[in-house]
Parts: sequence; C-alpha cells; structure tokens
Amino acid sequence: MIMAEKTIFKRIIDKDIPAKIVYEDDLCLAFDDAHPQAPVHVLLIPKKEIASLNQLTEEDTPLLGHLYSIVRKLVKELGLDNGYRLVVNCGDDGGQTVYHLHFHIFGGRPMSWPPG
Ligand code: 5GP
Repeated sequence: MIMAEKTIFKRIIDKDIPAKIVYEDDLCLAFDDAHPQAPVHVLLIPKKEIASLNQLTEEDTPLLGHLYSIVRKLVKELGLDNGYRLVVNCGDDGGQTVYHLHFHIFGGRPMSWPPG
C-alpha cells in the first residue's frame, strides 16, 4: 500500500519531531510557531487530518466549536488580555503552506490592518 507522506503537523502530533507544546487534549494540539510573527504566535491544530478549512464537513462542526473554546482558554493562559488575532490561511492565495488545518493565534503587540 502506498502511504501519503505525513504533513509536518502530523509529524508533530505523532511526536516524530519536537515542538514547544502549550496545550494538548484528545482532539487538538497547540504549539509555538517555529517562525513567530509576533511575541506570541501559537498554532492550534485538530488531531484529525483535515487539509484545510475547505475540507471541513458537517461532522466536524463540534470539533470546530471545541477549537474555538480552546482558543478562548489559551489566550487567557497566554495573558492576551488586550486582544489577539486569529488567522486561518486557506489555499495558495490565502498563504497556506502546511495542508493540515490550523489556527494562528497572534498576540503581544498591536496588529496592523490590512494584512499583507
Ligand atoms: P501557513 O502558512 O500554512 O498558514 O502556516 C504554517 C505555519 O507553520 C508557519 O507559520 C510556519 O512558520 C509554521 N511551521 C512550519 N513548519 C513548522 C515546524 O516544523 N514546527 C513549527 N512549530 N512550526 C512550523
């Protein structure tokens, strides 16, 4: 059987490669981005392999609710009381480079608008 190559995030989930994990439960994992774009730059990913936002199905609706609840928990723990930015890049034009659904959580400085 030909196995598709694991994404870098699947390798982090499987602990094949290290990451600075800040939260983990049965459904998701959060860890520091390797190339932070803000003082706080955490990636939150579902453990389920979903390539992008466009691959979500109705059965993933409870999972999405869970991810958002973990965002709220994490930003409190990270001390982002003054606000933060949540970003999901989708597809090539959206700037997505890793095809495993992820939320970027940026904080620790004021964010500019519009994004590049
Ligand atoms: P995207 O461009 O797909 O929205 O975001 C992918 C993110 O994953 C980038 O911000 C990039 O810095 C981060 N990233 C890529 N490879 C690794 C890695 O091996 N470890 C960690 N912690 N982050 C990574």
